[in-house]
Amino acid sequence: MTAANLSAQVQALRRQLRSLLEAAHDNERKLDRFDALERRLVAVGSMEELVTLLLVDCRDDFGLDAAELWLLDPEEELRRALPALPMARAPRLLGSHAPLVALFGAVRATRLIGPDGGALLAQAFEPGTPVRSAALLPLIRQGLLIGSLHLGARDPERYDAQSGTKFLDRLAAIAAIAIESMLNRERLRRAGMTDGLTGVHNRRYFDHRSLIEFSQAVRHRYPLACLFLDIDHFKAINDGHGHPAGDEVLRQVGGLIQRSLRAGDLAARYGGEEFVVLLPRTGEAGAREVAERIRLTVQEAPFVTPEGGTIGATLSAGLAMLPANAGSFADLLSAADRALYEAKRSGRNRTVSLGDDPA
Ligand code: GH3
Ligand code: MG
Ligand code: MG
Repeated sequence: MTAANLSAQVQALRRQLRSLLEAAHDNERKLDRFDALERRLVAVGSMEELVTLLLVDCRDDFGLDAAELWLLDPEEELRRALPALPMARAPRLLGSHAPLVALFGAVRATRLIGPDGGALLAQAFEPGTPVRSAALLPLIRQGLLIGSLHLGARDPERYDAQSGTKFLDRLAAIAAIAIESMLNRERLRRAGMTDGLTGVHNRRYFDHRSLIEFSQAVRHRYPLACLFLDIDHFKAINDGHGHPAGDEVLRQVGGLIQRSLRAGDLAARYGGEEFVVLLPRTGEAGAREVAERIRLTVQEAPFVTPEGGTIGATLSAGLAMLPANAGSFADLLSAADRALYEAKRSGRNRTVSLGDDPA
């Protein structure tokens, strides 16, 4: 072997070593990025943060052009739990398994798709997303496919079917755990805030939220209306038709109240057969209208008993206003309670406002 030959071989070996080292560094950097993302995934504090992490941070950290998250939500539980997120970073909520099955079939493994998988890319991303290659990650918990995460790039060579998927598989597994634990947390939080029988908020939640509503109304100087709603002669319903029929009336009245309100209003079961409603930014006339609407709806509703019969019920409403009738929140509640007492005293099935002439 000549000296020149030897030197050429040494050069070649050096080049090879350099490219191996570069590949190793690349892998290490990739591992670091995945590692950082996974650490953040397990530490998220809210569903919104989790969605942002998967859809925005994930895309940016990996230098991708598109990210989509699909989540199975047949009971519309997520639809209720997720705050109204801007469309650009909202997950797509699925009513059935069908779209997931269309993507993953029976295999349910990470799929890497190159530019020849155009039809699948069109399925996995919103129309008009400039994606030429993608990784589709199935999110699986306890053997069930609960959603999928789609990472897309303009670069047609970013993902190809021959590459390994170890990092992505791991990311998918951790994302699925994070989603499930966030859902469980959300369920627990919800259970702690709502009344089991009527599904409206419970007293504990009311006590907490009402103070926030009160201080905001004071700070921003807008009116806050408070309604107490109490079912008339409820004891007689229990006595005449049985406790389960009474429960059913309560449950349906709770639903009617809830459906009569706007998104920013707050309704809660205050005690046995008594509900409280707070209407922010609502004047006396508007609040009276809401109270009367609820009262008339209840008066006209046929309440279906567990035996399948129907019974009628009415309720009385007491209305008080901040700042007209009260200076503190305790004042406001006791003013509405006094108005309710007056509604009962003067014949029931009516709305009495503290501003009313006591004639
Ligand atoms: P008024 O028109 O003055 O409000 O008369 P009322 O009979 O509605 O009021 P009262 O306070 O005398 O009775 C309320 C009844 O509500 C007594 C209680 O047993 C019943 N009650 C409270 N909570 C529940 C419940 O969760 N389910 C059922 N079925 N009854 C309940
Ligand atoms: Mg009552
Ligand atoms: Mg009562």
